[in-house]
Amino acid sequence: MDAALARAWVQAIAAAIDEHTDQLTQLDSAIGDADHGANMRRGFSACLDALADTPLETPGDVLVRTGATLISSVGGAAGPLYGSAFRAIGRALAGPDAGAEQVLSALTEGLTAVKRLGAAVPGDKTIVDAYTPAVAAFEQELWEGGGLAAAAAHAAEAAEAGARATTTMQARKGRASYLGPRSVGHQDPGATSTALIFRALAEVTVR
Ligand code: ADP
Ligand code: MG
Ligand code: MG
Repeated sequence: MDAALARAWVQAIAAAIDEHTDQLTQLDSAIGDADHGANMRRGFSACLDALADTPLETPGDVLVRTGATLISSVGGAAGPLYGSAFRAIGRALAGPDAGAEQVLSALTEGLTAVKRLGAAVPGDKTIVDAYTPAVAAFEQELWEGGGLAAAAAHAAEAAEAGARATTTMQARKGRASYLGPRSVGHQDPGATSTALIFRALAEVTVR
């Protein structure tokens, strides 16, 4: 992954969020406060502006900038969580062109950052429920000899399955946890946006 690919990833995320803003808002209106679509759209549109401003030479520069922009532009839980994730991913991608193994460690650092900040574990009905299986599938594919594009494709599938699996979970973190058992039966908005982020990575890596 070079700086151009990192940029393309952020642009693909922004496009996917744009396309799915209403879906994310509807999911968040069922178990939250109906702002996840708007939060994500504001954040990634600010990222596009921030990236347009500056020549960024490494994938790490692009993704650290993305993380910092998400933290400063998105209120709510998801902004700091995704912001910390992208900052951690970026910090692990120093150098002009990261290989698939390095991308795996970077994605893992991002997950660690989300868990450190939000203290969620798998099963809590959060971002972690899509992100954890995505990283596992990415790693599995590399282990089986696949490259970056194949790993990202498997990660996207696993993230989508992980997001769907949040439907039957009871939320134990974030706003949805206030609903207790009434949070069951709805797919988690944050896990759903995480699946969009991994799908975007899969899209740009096959180009
Ligand atoms: P808010 O809940 O503040 O309105 P958003 O609606 O933008 O923020 O984001 C909600 C999403 O954030 C949830 O669907 C969930 O996936 C995620 N989330 C909330 N708290 C946590 C946490 N502690 N760890 C991981 N993800 C979390
Ligand atoms: Mg919300
Ligand atoms: Mg909110």
